[in-house]
Amino acid sequence: MKISEKTINQLLSDRNLPDNELNALLESSGLDELLFSSADAIRRKIYGDEVYIRGLIEFTNYCKNNCYYCGIRKYNKKAVRYRLSKDEIMSCCSEGYSLGFRTFVLQGGEDPYYNDKLICEIVSEIRERYSDCAITLSIGEKSKESYRAYFNAGANRYLLRHETADEEHYKKLHPESMSLQKRKQCLFELKEIGYQVGSGFMVGSPYQTTENLISDIRFLQRLKPDMIGIGPYINHAQTPFADFANGSLELTLRLISVLRLIFPYALIPATTALGTIHPQGRELGLKAGANVVMPNLSPVKVRKLYDLYENKICTGEEAAQCRGCLERRVKSAGYNIVTSIGNVKKEEQHSE
Ligand code: SAM
Repeated sequence: MKISEKTINQLLSDRNLPDNELNALLESSGLDELLFSSADAIRRKIYGDEVYIRGLIEFTNYCKNNCYYCGIRKYNKKAVRYRLSKDEIMSCCSEGYSLGFRTFVLQGGEDPYYNDKLICEIVSEIRERYSDCAITLSIGEKSKESYRAYFNAGANRYLLRHETADEEHYKKLHPESMSLQKRKQCLFELKEIGYQVGSGFMVGSPYQTTENLISDIRFLQRLKPDMIGIGPYINHAQTPFADFANGSLELTLRLISVLRLIFPYALIPATTALGTIHPQGRELGLKAGANVVMPNLSPVKVRKLYDLYENKICTGEEAAQCRGCLERRVKSAGYNIVTSIGNVKKEEQHSE
């Protein structure tokens, strides 16, 4: 099927396309420039030139899961494991707050050491000290009661990528003990509790087809998340997928734009993975419609150990250096970092 400007106009007016047109759009580079500029125009209409920053604290690389693509999977016996104490996490927040961060993202492998009591203690202490900040958790699949306990302790956002919305593809990426149905259920439960929810997927993960990507978009249309995180799949030698190729910059950018056009209000990060596969990946991501960056606030001594994929960038600099570097990069792309809490602007879309 041939795509034309009409395809983008239809996407702009309907915020949707039939499967065959989405397929053609994702598989062709012919309309990329128009696609990127249309996505940028929409993000500017809602968010102006503002880019929100989130301070990422990667607090544990222990994980009980064995996702075939991930460098911190349980069976990677070469991984050097670490955990941050509550005090260490608090000092990351303290440094982050003085650098202007108003969102802290606590991310980690699924590490049973951090039981609900400990997570709630950490969240409550951050909430008490920084009442003007958002607390985002990204700690995997938990029971609804656990999610509720974290929410009551003061967490208000949750990131849980669905990874792929297709059952067959999910089985190729994960061991039998994990289930797509459970992951999807977690996302809907998080929404019910009242979290601002983020989901997403890797682009170019092993065995992924364009049909799988369309299923991802259809799933997101049902979920209606506030945040959508996508980034290229990147190889890691200590995984069963060691011989697979990385996801591509071009397809990731095209998907960022398509997602911006379908979900105009969404908070979409220009991810570290995008910056890893191309020196200007994050800047290009912003120009294609992304509006969030997530610099690392973890102590430098553990940065290299949160080794999800190879050649991960930003593992050597102190938080302040990362913040300064990103500020310059964002400016060079034509946008401005703002230090607000950076909530989603869903109402703007409704009042159009
Ligand atoms: N344990 C939590 C969870 O499952 O949501 C958060 C940590 S998990 C390591 C964070 C994200 O890293 C995953 O959702 C996955 O999309 C991404 N990731 C893992 N391995 C990757 C790889 N090889 N390339 C790119 N992204 C990867």
